[in-house]
Amino acid sequence: MKIPIVELSDCIKCGVCVEICPEVFRLNGAGFIDVIELSSYPEIEVNEAIKYCPVDCIYWEE
Ligand code: SF4
Repeated sequence: MKIPIVELSDCIKCGVCVEICPEVFRLNGAGFIDVIELSSYPEIEVNEAIKYCPVDCIYWEE
């Protein structure tokens, strides 16, 4: 299964991924982006988040 990964050391916490795909990305209490654990991930929405992340720190892990 493909899982989206956020490279937290590069993430600038802009919130774009959360806006595009809140079912997958969430800002946690510590102020970091979490990838919510799901049995499968919506490819189109995650690809949108990948496309619009300003620092390109989201990627798929196979
Ligand atoms: S879009 Fe990219 S930089 Fe912005 S919060 Fe999401 S992972 Fe971080």
